[in-house]
Amino acid sequence: MNKILIVEDEAAISNLIRTNLNDAGYRCTCAYDGLLASNMIEKERFDLVLLDIMLPKMDGYELLEYIKTMEIPVIFLTAKSSVDDIVKGLKLGAEDYLAKPFEIIELLARVETVLRRYNKNARFLILHDISIDTLSRIVKKNEEIINLTNKEYELLLLFVRNKDIALFRDRIYERIWGDEDMGDSRTVDLHVQRLRKKIKWEDKLVAVYKIGYRLEG
Ligand code: CA
Repeated sequence: MNKILIVEDEAAISNLIRTNLNDAGYRCTCAYDGLLASNMIEKERFDLVLLDIMLPKMDGYELLEYIKTMEIPVIFLTAKSSVDDIVKGLKLGAEDYLAKPFEIIELLARVETVLRRYNKNARFLILHDISIDTLSRIVKKNEEIINLTNKEYELLLLFVRNKDIALFRDRIYERIWGDEDMGDSRTVDLHVQRLRKKIKWEDKLVAVYKIGYRLEG
């Protein structure tokens, strides 16, 4: 389940966003000022931050500079729809923006799009205690490097990018082995078992009866 931090000082807007994102299946946390938000980001891993610009204690632009170093995508919320503000936010590294007032359907569409795009293009993927550097292909568990074979690495990437989704064995085979003519349905099981053991995700990478596997996010 994707975790979203809502940084917005107006309680009415914050509540509206939280209610709708919760209903859509996201887990939300609210911060009402910039300083509190930065503390929360330090302590907890979020998949996305919705960030208001005008905030008490630390403004959205300042916070954006900080969040950028953490590799978390940001959609900023602005009351001002002036081009200058939007350009500044995007230049500082925000993935997208929403000008207030906005329609909930627009908010949901942007959240979904940014998360999808980010998960596909991000250099670093972090889930639970595992971090993956997709450029160097280095996988770490609590800062310790885990040596994976090529197939195990690709398998891990596939699961992380599709967390919380039950993946069919056939589809996993197709995605990882493609046309390679190995043709044994046990191949997927064997590799998943080995991967699971190496990264110690026995409780997270679960078998789904008659389907395949699912990684709990
Ligand atoms: Ca505000």
